[in-house]
Amino acid sequence: MPELFIDGRWTAAVDGQVREIRCPADGTPVATVDEAGPKDAAAAVAAARDAFDRGPWPRTPAAERGRLLLRVADFLERDKADFARAESLDTGKRLVESEIDMDDIANCFRYFGNLVCAGGTERVIDTGDPAVDSRVVHEPVGVCSLITPWNYPLLQTAWKVAPALGAGNTFVLKPSELTPHTAILLMRLLEEAGLPPGAGNLLLGSGATVGAPITTDERVDLVSFTGGLVTGRRIMAAAAPTVKKIALELGGKNPNIVFADADFDTAVDYALMAVFLHSGQVCSAGARLLVQQELHDAFVDEVVARAREIPLGGPFDENARTGPLISEEHRAKIESYVAAGLAEGAVLRCGGRRPDDTALQNGFYYLPTVLDDCTPGMSVVRDESFGPVMTVERFRDEDEAVALANDTVYGLAGGLWTQDSELAQRVSSRLRAGTVWINDFHPYVPQAEWGGMKQSGVGRELGPAGLAEYQEPKHIWRNTAPRPQRWFA
Ligand code: NAD
Repeated sequence: MPELFIDGRWTAAVDGQVREIRCPADGTPVATVDEAGPKDAAAAVAAARDAFDRGPWPRTPAAERGRLLLRVADFLERDKADFARAESLDTGKRLVESEIDMDDIANCFRYFGNLVCAGGTERVIDTGDPAVDSRVVHEPVGVCSLITPWNYPLLQTAWKVAPALGAGNTFVLKPSELTPHTAILLMRLLEEAGLPPGAGNLLLGSGATVGAPITTDERVDLVSFTGGLVTGRRIMAAAAPTVKKIALELGGKNPNIVFADADFDTAVDYALMAVFLHSGQVCSAGARLLVQQELHDAFVDEVVARAREIPLGGPFDENARTGPLISEEHRAKIESYVAAGLAEGAVLRCGGRRPDDTALQNGFYYLPTVLDDCTPGMSVVRDESFGPVMTVERFRDEDEAVALANDTVYGLAGGLWTQDSELAQRVSSRLRAGTVWINDFHPYVPQAEWGGMKQSGVGRELGPAGLAEYQEPKHIWRNTAPRPQRWFA
């Protein structure tokens, strides 16, 4: 069965291109999928435009749209095992982590389904004139291009598809070319749930070939993108000539601040999880460990001792606690950041190389790495390496901790550890980040907005604001007793 989904039909690429997908854990072929080109991209946008302008979806009552999302949530739970396996084969991530993602994805569809069913977004305005009926309604934006990355392929897709459909939009989805499978499975579920033809379209292919045209096409009203900062800047510029709405979820270089009074064991445990989860390929990874001076030696010694023991392995290795990187190219990028950090004076405490284990030689593995004595100017501290690399900096007091934490172009997330609740409140309000965790790291819920300050992005996903991204408020003013006004009498 072909894998592009355009105007309600499964189809191969017009020019017959395909792409082979291999598992990053061991290089085994996963599948060969259709690879769209510009003609397919144009057809998908045309289908979404027609479905928006003439099709039933934007005119379907909100409660009915919400019920479709709730059905999708049920189907996702039913098919969880297939989805999790497909996600793990594409990404190399542990099966148990993919299973957690699938639960989160079902919850996301359920959250937006219930939010849309609840309605209540219409606002009546009291103009002071009883003859005037004035209200603000929320309409869909139109045709949405949804472009997603490879690290949490279906999760990032769900954060866009659920609110876009819930609000009554039509969309063209382009997942990362490296991880297409769960997007294919999701489109099958949307079809099964009864989404009308053209309302949801799927393009598989590279950013340059099919991503770019769906960010410039004048028939597209909104581009919602999750991915790297450089691509985000490019997309913002590409969308400018036609003044598209944009929503950007970009990278992070997130601080994890440990004050001297923190609960030592818990803070060490979370410092490891914050950065080495999914081999650091997490936008909110706590990659910059900031430790208070007096705690530094003991804390970093313990982090290093435990980082050395983290077992690596493929998706189905039950002993593994983290997996491979997505590609050889990505591993090479991380290696060059570590080399630059060492050249700039960082001290390698563990990792900094590929594992020796012969069983891992066919995958893109890299050992959990701790670089101590880092300083803010180093590229490994400044840039998002997006790998299992923790940089350590020391601070003397609260002011220095906040200054170091905020010394980044990013502003996605950050964590802090202290038993002093007043200190925690002060620091949380001083951090310029879209999410702050106090004595925790990484949790999120679909009810709470997610997104970044500064160059971590534009707009928010999840929560009511995550639905509002896909809506246009419209003010409708009805004069129930019109009379000549004689302005020009
Ligand atoms: P990427 O920017 O390389 O690619 C993301 C997507 O954009 C892919 O589908 C790609 O094909 C497409 N693309 C590339 N060039 C394009 C172009 N010119 N026009 C249109 N589309 C184009 O990012 P990636 O390497 O896939 O993902 C990793 C990045 O994603 C990291 O920076 C990470 O922080 C970020 N991310 C952010 C969040 C968040 O919530 N803020 C979540 C997950 C990942």
